[in-house]
Amino acid sequence: MSSPTPTNLLIMGAGPAGAATALRLSFLGIPCTLLDKSDFPRDKVCGDALSGKVPTLLNRLDPAIMDRFRAHYSPTDVWGIRFFPPSGKLIELPFKIGYERIPDQAPGYVSKRMDFDNFLLEECRRRPDIDLQLNTEISQFEKTDTGYTVTARDGRRWSCRLLIDGTGAQSKFSRHEARQEVDHDHYAAAVRAYYRGVTGFHPDNFIELHFLKEYNPGYFWIFPLPNGEANVGLGMRSDIVKRRKVNLRKELDKIVASPAFRERFAGAEQIDPTVGYGLPLGSKERILSGDNYLLIGDAGHLIDPLTGEGIGNGVYSGFIAAELAEKCLAENRFDAAYLRAYDVRIERVLRTELRLSYRLQQIMQWTWLTNLLTGIVAANPKVIEVLCRMYTDFELRKQLVRPTFWWKLFRAKTGKAPAVTVSGTDQP
Ligand SMILES: Cc1cc2nc3c(=O)[nH]c(=O)nc-3n(C[C@H](O)[C@H](O)[C@H](O)COP(=O)(O)OP(=O)(O)OC[C@H]3O[C@@H](n4cnc5c(N)ncnc54)[C@H](O)[C@@H]3O)c2cc1C
Repeated sequence: MSSPTPTNLLIMGAGPAGAATALRLSFLGIPCTLLDKSDFPRDKVCGDALSGKVPTLLNRLDPAIMDRFRAHYSPTDVWGIRFFPPSGKLIELPFKIGYERIPDQAPGYVSKRMDFDNFLLEECRRRPDIDLQLNTEISQFEKTDTGYTVTARDGRRWSCRLLIDGTGAQSKFSRHEARQEVDHDHYAAAVRAYYRGVTGFHPDNFIELHFLKEYNPGYFWIFPLPNGEANVGLGMRSDIVKRRKVNLRKELDKIVASPAFRERFAGAEQIDPTVGYGLPLGSKERILSGDNYLLIGDAGHLIDPLTGEGIGNGVYSGFIAAELAEKCLAENRFDAAYLRAYDVRIERVLRTELRLSYRLQQIMQWTWLTNLLTGIVAANPKVIEVLCRMYTDFELRKQLVRPTFWWKLFRAKTGKAPAVTVSGTDQP
């Protein structure tokens, strides 16, 4: 057996989480090795929606990155959400109040993962200190005194001080080495299909979440892609899929053909087979670090349990991992006690938000309650304004799960209390 190539920092998986880690390290002036089993461009089953976290974080590295993305891939610029509760009563939430549509300043985008992930990889290719190895599937891990040695299927080996696992929802390292069990109460299943010719979109490309009664908690989505295409899908929590024996592919076809959507899909054609994949949700508290390793993105179960958003959290966790890796190198410490700082920062930056989304997901299981609350919202333009601000204001968002917030609104609506004022602070 050949001796392993030594490297301090090894990142497995060049999806958004792994690529972001490598880029953040490179901008800190730290070299790393980045491995992926695929050749790029490659597809990843997804809704393809990039939340505000993605441009915000990439702009922190260098605004030229997002400029290149927009110039070469022309993603759909997204300005808000159309939210359909089980009652069907439409609520439109722009991400910014009174926005002016300047595509370069869009708060979110939709871009096929074939494009977005390839773009991030191209950014990695521009950085000479990222040693990128594609077509490299890691099949074995061995804990050593100083770190890990990993072996690829073709027999090539690497030894490292810190192993950063970004191999996604089916990560073998996360499951077998870091002992992160799949818990179906905190996992979702979803299917996606690409269509051409769907009609009836908001003129400013609002993404659409349809919380249909039969699929609660979970939702059917329609996201507008460039060139008249659309990403259409259905996702539900895995415990419910199992219990009700739901065939998501068949149900997706049923929804598209149902009277509520028939007209919008009348002239549309499906251009790709329907495909599915798992979503490890961040609703369960987990320790994502240990001696000589960190788990990032889906390998660390960091997907938002309400919205299914995982790309932004993957990128964020990659940045946090890279910033800690810099300290590890400076202090020459890679032990579990030192790496626990990763979980502390994940807690501070992402966990509060994940917990909040989980509570909202739980509330939404009560269809009557969701209908009642969304009814209050729909009847009250001031509240819609508050909700729009919640997209960027985390303190405000926290109020959504407080019964007193809704009680005051209810009383204001029925004329029994003065209009509600809500204060908050901008998210850093
Ligand atoms: C149907 C569906 C819809 C979704 N919609 C959205 C959405 O609209 N917006 C959103 O933000 N999130 C969405 N998500 C979640 C999102 O797709 C994930 O959170 C995101 O892809 C996580 O990125 P990652 O880098 O952690 O993992 P991945 O994107 O899965 O990347 C993992 C990488 O690791 C590589 N790899 C795997 N095993 C090995 C190995 N043994 N050796 C080497 N390399 C390996 C793979 O080739 C891959 O490139 C959706 C998920 C699903 C399933």
